[in-house]
Amino acid sequence: MNGSQASAPNGKGDGFLDFDAVIIGAGVSGLYQLYKLRQLGLRVRIFETGTGVGGTWYWNRYPGARFDSESYTYAYSFSPELLDEWSWEERFAGQPETERYLNYVADKFDLRRDIQFKSRVTAAHYREEKRGWDIVLEDGRHYAARFLITAIGVLSAPTMPRIPGVETFRGESFHTHHWPKEPVGFEGKRVGVIGTGATAVQAITEIAKMVGHLTVFQRTPNWCAPLHNAKIGEDEMRRIRASYAEIFARCDESPGCFIHKPDRRRTHEVTREEREAFWEKLYGEPGFGIWQGNFRDILTDRAANALISDFIARKIRERVRDPAVAEKLVPKNHGFGTRRVPLESGYYEVYNQPNVKLVDINETPIERITPAGIKTSDAEYAFDMIIYATGFDAITGTFDRIDIRGIDGVRLTDKWREGPQTYLGVLVEGFPNMLMVMGPHAALGNFPRAVEYNVDWVTALIRHGCERGVTRIEATPAGVAQWTDHVKASGEGLLFNEIDSWMTGVNRNVDGKQTRKIMRYSGGHPTFREHCDAVATDGYRDIALA
Ligand SMILES: Cc1cc2nc3c(=O)[nH]c(=O)nc-3n(C[C@H](O)[C@H](O)[C@H](O)COP(=O)(O)OP(=O)(O)OC[C@H]3O[C@@H](n4cnc5c(N)ncnc54)[C@H](O)[C@@H]3O)c2cc1C
Repeated sequence: MNGSQASAPNGKGDGFLDFDAVIIGAGVSGLYQLYKLRQLGLRVRIFETGTGVGGTWYWNRYPGARFDSESYTYAYSFSPELLDEWSWEERFAGQPETERYLNYVADKFDLRRDIQFKSRVTAAHYREEKRGWDIVLEDGRHYAARFLITAIGVLSAPTMPRIPGVETFRGESFHTHHWPKEPVGFEGKRVGVIGTGATAVQAITEIAKMVGHLTVFQRTPNWCAPLHNAKIGEDEMRRIRASYAEIFARCDESPGCFIHKPDRRRTHEVTREEREAFWEKLYGEPGFGIWQGNFRDILTDRAANALISDFIARKIRERVRDPAVAEKLVPKNHGFGTRRVPLESGYYEVYNQPNVKLVDINETPIERITPAGIKTSDAEYAFDMIIYATGFDAITGTFDRIDIRGIDGVRLTDKWREGPQTYLGVLVEGFPNMLMVMGPHAALGNFPRAVEYNVDWVTALIRHGCERGVTRIEATPAGVAQWTDHVKASGEGLLFNEIDSWMTGVNRNVDGKQTRKIMRYSGGHPTFREHCDAVATDGYRDIALA
């Protein structure tokens, strides 16, 4: 396809379309999607709220923000030249390094000329007469495009806690997602952190090194495991570079696209001694091995899950000196690995510091934020700074924040009121020409690995359509019903679907998100790819092309 075809993928030379495709979001997903659509010769524009590229790695600048994925498994694989040029400094890169990497990608492939920053999309309405989308930005500007591609992230709609008085606090306050670009000073300050999820675990560990006094307000402790980060020397980087093909192949074979593959044994197939030795080894190794590379039944068999939970609980009790504090840090309402496991670099030892206090808000709930600090049911804490590490309205939250309407003005939020319904996590019936990259009911995991597949699939579908003069791509009701059933069936028997977490769509700070839903495909990436490949091979089965 060449440039002249590109300006009119419908073959009619439409004057009323500003772009062939609009992509929302300039994170890992949006950048690669832009690169691929340009190769088709399409006129593409990314609209991005932020002032720079990177998405997650642009926004989350809090101290301690870094990968839990091995850096070299997170790299884009599409360009051998890029793989050759980029050297990772750390096994688990910090936010600044990852932001630099994504800027390097944007520059190398000259992506910025098609990215419009400071451009939050507030509405996108499908127009049947145009077979396209009207897109409205926050500042009122309107654009029209044939295809609307959402690359808006699964963790990009931050949520504040529902506590009265937030706006009355007189000190500094930050949500970890909206961390300022300017340096924030902590020396001598009294700091309160609300939240103990993966972000909080990273932030607390770093901030504890700098503050005068730190108070952590915890509702739900998480099962954390050591990250074991290290610098990558030149020799190691050379070895990594030489084995990229094997690294990516190994990621592709694993259910979560991580370098760690489940052990083929079941927990009870080995002796107690063998089990303990295996877990000690995993606990001493870098990354998600203890979660993703464990016995294959720890997330399906309750007895197995209880054993690994007991192992991690013993580690917490060994590392935290005060037994009462240790007990508070041991999760009681979910088993190990049934929520996203935060990786840590000295998190538990923070609670051995004399200037750190842990407040269990189940025992003493927060009543309000006051001008001076935080008031719980039994005390008032004075702070210079409050940090909200209160996470995200995950997976569908960013969609909910855009007024997306399909045929006959039907709102996407209404369509998904009882839970997402998609075809392959990419298409929604009634919303023609809207394609989602890493949408609900797609397979999550080590992101770029999943993103590259997802984007390639979306691009191939658009190419298929353009080559046939198709101007309308829509999921069929049968396809959506079948995929939604399949997604539900693939989640059966998995312990994490029985637990409240962002992965099951629960967020106590968001209306209508109090009950668990199946939000993502949990049948593993190899099976996900098999399904999507088969659909493409069958000439895009269950997709209406017109
Ligand atoms: C703290 C943190 C650590 C993480 N660590 C890992 C990890 O170790 N490994 C891993 O695989 N994943 C990790 N993730 C998940 C991470 O989100 C993905 O790895 C990846 O960065 C997602 O890329 P994306 O492009 O799909 O979405 P995002 O990076 O979220 O980008 C979406 C972009 O869309 C923009 N946007 C959204 N709505 C609009 C709108 N209405 N108008 C305009 N622009 C809009 C946003 O501003 C954002 O820039 C982490 C996430 C967080 C929050």
